Amino acid sequence: MLKREVGRVVKCPYCGFEADVNSFKLLREPWRFRFYTVRMLECPRCHKVFNYYFGISPRSGKRSEYVIRIKPKK
Ligand SMILES: [Zn+2]
Repeated sequence: MLKREVGRVVKCPYCGFEADVNSFKLLREPWRFRFYTVRMLECPRCHKVFNYYFGISPRSGKRSEYVIRIKPKK
């Protein structure tokens, strides 16, 4: 069971909108990728979709996070 994480700021890679992760629309249940938790999020401002990765590196013990843009389906 994945915990709801509060207070994490995410920045939209398209328009630069910054807000708490819970301000973004979660399009599907978070899933695991290696040591990351991945969320598919929709920006509330520009309505584009991206994946937000967050995890703790098992090697360094440091927080690691990044976003990946998702190309819209056609
Ligand atoms: Zn945006």
